[in-house]
Amino acid sequence: MNKFWSETVKRTKPYVPGEQLNDPNIIKLNTNENPYGPSPQVSEAIHSEMKRTLHLYPAPDADELCNEISRYYHVSKDTIFIGNGSDEILAFSFMAFFEPHNQICFPAITYSFYPVYAKLFNIPYDEIALNRDFTIPAEDFFGAEGGVVIANPNSPTGLYLDVAVIEDIVMNNPENVVIIDEAYIDFAPDSAVSLVTKYPNLLVVRTMSKSRSLAGLRVGFAIGDPGLIEGLKRIKDSFNSYTVDRLAIAGSSAAIRDEDYFQETIQKIINTRERLIPEMKKRGFHVLPSQANFIFVSHYKISAESLYQRLKQQGILVRHFDKPDIEHYLRITVGSDEQMKHFLEVLDNVILHIKESAVKN
Ligand code: PMP
Repeated sequence: MNKFWSETVKRTKPYVPGEQLNDPNIIKLNTNENPYGPSPQVSEAIHSEMKRTLHLYPAPDADELCNEISRYYHVSKDTIFIGNGSDEILAFSFMAFFEPHNQICFPAITYSFYPVYAKLFNIPYDEIALNRDFTIPAEDFFGAEGGVVIANPNSPTGLYLDVAVIEDIVMNNPENVVIIDEAYIDFAPDSAVSLVTKYPNLLVVRTMSKSRSLAGLRVGFAIGDPGLIEGLKRIKDSFNSYTVDRLAIAGSSAAIRDEDYFQETIQKIINTRERLIPEMKKRGFHVLPSQANFIFVSHYKISAESLYQRLKQQGILVRHFDKPDIEHYLRITVGSDEQMKHFLEVLDNVILHIKESAVKN
């Protein structure tokens, strides 16, 4: 603790992102990145932007990308906010819509950035216990005191709530903003974006990092009532007018335009996920029915910690959360078929090795 720190800095407990090892030989299945890379049109758009306009500030509201999102989702431009990754939009939303005297709620097992933002902005929060099967008890979110945040599909479980259930939660919180974090929704059946025109208290937050394979470019967007969007813009413009740079705007706009590439790569990942689930079950894992680009699994006999360590020694990085309710689980990103084939081979060897050493001891 440094004596010059403000009270705000003192009370923060920063988020710890998944390991980013810069070794090209490592297979990274720990931060839900997309194995296919972005559409080739993304780099073309970035190169052409680079040649022409880097000496000029970008459009403060990222107009080009707003136009693409407006066209793609059939929503008006005043319902769209663009941010430097959806993390930034979530942070702005906590500041724009939640209060230090009103307790917000989110699931006890979810994206661990939510409590970090709450602490940073001094917002009290209630972590609502999940059902035993890790599903979200929707009714426990009705009539919240100060706001609701739900990731759908949830992370790290991968479980998805039907849009009708999301609507129930939004409807039963008329005095609160309900944030639905749809980071993984393109791998799931249906988005809540269709509800936005009906409910002035719903903000849907999306990212280009996963389904559009642009984690390195840092682009997210939110869709909500114009009143909410204006609130977000007021916060942004009190920090930094240009949160999204020209290359990011050009690249992410191109990614949205290349619909064929998007559909093809999404479908490949979903197909790989559906092939991976039975393979994991065959090997003695309990696997939650994921609707995301990762699976959440627990082995009946072998500890998640030792599987995590041994996979890492073999060059495969998965995510293990050292938290009481989920310490027996691993979150594994769905990579390409080739990566998952290699992963299963390594996993077989690791399991065999652990079983053999158990017999010897
Ligand atoms: N929400 C959830 C549930 C996530 O898992 C992530 C990725 N870590 C994010 C938001 C943030 O994504 P990004 O900032 O890359 O848009």
